[in-house]
Amino acid sequence: MKHRIVVLGAGYAGTYVAGTLARRLSPADAEITVVNAEPDFVQRLRLHQLAAGQEIEAPQLADVFAGTGIRLRVARVTAVDPERQVVAMADADGGGELGYETLLYALGSHVADHGVAGVAEHAFDVSGRPSALRLRERLDSLGKRDEGGSVLVVGDGLTGIETATEIAEARPGLSVTLVARGELGARLSAGARSHLRHVCDRLGVTVLEYASVEAVEATRVLCADGTALASDATVWTAGFAVGPIAAVGGLEVTENGRIVVDRTMRSVSHPNVYACGDSAYAIGDNGRPLPMSCASAGYTGRQAADAIVGRLTGGEIANTKLVYPGNHISLGRRDGILQMVDDEAQAQPKYVGGRTAARIKAGILRISLWAVSHPTFGLPRRTRHLAPDAPAERAVGVRVAA
Ligand SMILES: Cc1cc2nc3c(=O)[nH]c(=O)nc-3n(C[C@H](O)[C@H](O)[C@H](O)COP(=O)(O)OP(=O)(O)OC[C@H]3O[C@@H](n4cnc5c(N)ncnc54)[C@H](O)[C@@H]3O)c2cc1C
Repeated sequence: MKHRIVVLGAGYAGTYVAGTLARRLSPADAEITVVNAEPDFVQRLRLHQLAAGQEIEAPQLADVFAGTGIRLRVARVTAVDPERQVVAMADADGGGELGYETLLYALGSHVADHGVAGVAEHAFDVSGRPSALRLRERLDSLGKRDEGGSVLVVGDGLTGIETATEIAEARPGLSVTLVARGELGARLSAGARSHLRHVCDRLGVTVLEYASVEAVEATRVLCADGTALASDATVWTAGFAVGPIAAVGGLEVTENGRIVVDRTMRSVSHPNVYACGDSAYAIGDNGRPLPMSCASAGYTGRQAADAIVGRLTGGEIANTKLVYPGNHISLGRRDGILQMVDDEAQAQPKYVGGRTAARIKAGILRISLWAVSHPTFGLPRRTRHLAPDAPAERAVGVRVAA
């Protein structure tokens, strides 16, 4: 009987781990199944571009995994039961359950309203493809009006900055405002902050600082100081959280739903469950939680894959690097900021701005897409057999979906 590894989510983290496991474990011993809601890979790093009106590549996952031995199941995960070691799924055929001996949870994150009234009903976001496309439709309809329209981007984290500048550059007929809770780009170095302000001026983005949004309505937002800001499209970028599936299943999670893991990305409550990417609450080598980011997806994914292979084959588990090197921020298609951070996650004084940064960011996006599209990196298999005591398929009365 084979050891069944089920990978939930084929985003940046899940695809990488599935590919690495397929390369390193013998297919005679381990069966790897990836479950993903969409049939194609969504480049989340570029969803603000999609919203602004650009097309982004979306490789079919069936092609990505072809010839790797990885089984793909296109279905929405609805529940995880770590006691019975099954995952419940829904799809057009009704779904079913999938049993596992090892589970890798990499379902990513979604937008979080932090309890602000009206966000769910009235705000747009760019955290997933459907919501990015809804925003795009709205921007299209505003663009057709003679008087244009106003777009209010709430949140000056990286996603908010990228979204506001991208929309302003792509749709100069719209008036774009970026609402920041404190000073604009507070986590950047002084030089990078000043570069950002200059780019916002050039693109005509109005910056509203020290403003806290308390409610979102259909045509305006209300701030804590009583100010009402008119808005034809409010884009909420002020937070991300992990869906409830892990928490409902009984896994130990943080307040915002991230699975608490140890240094090897193993759930602290359920030893045969691993998490990586946005879904994992992992502590970096500097003692601080790793931020939700593509870089963290890579580092946590690598550690999870090493730990799974090590435990199943009886090999050593190395502590791989868990760091956050810095921010690569696009400011439209022709500008950007690369801001390196120090060991304490504080911005270093040096930054790279302008076209060079834009080119480097474009390169990073290309490399990430290539890596996801080639999850086994085209390398010959370095397959290892499972240790004799590695658990194999158990008879638990589980209906395994076809
Ligand atoms: C607009 C935008 C710009 C960003 N820019 C940057 C950036 O420049 N740099 C950076 O480091 N980070 C950036 N990020 C953050 C980055 O995208 C995430 O940190 C990264 O995608 C996390 O990878 P992941 O594999 O954990 O999750 P994801 O890439 O989100 O993958 C999760 C996968 O799980 C699937 N899934 C989710 N729920 C279910 C379900 N119930 N059933 C089945 N499948 C499901 C999804 O379809 C998806 O395929 C950006 C995010 C956004 C929204």
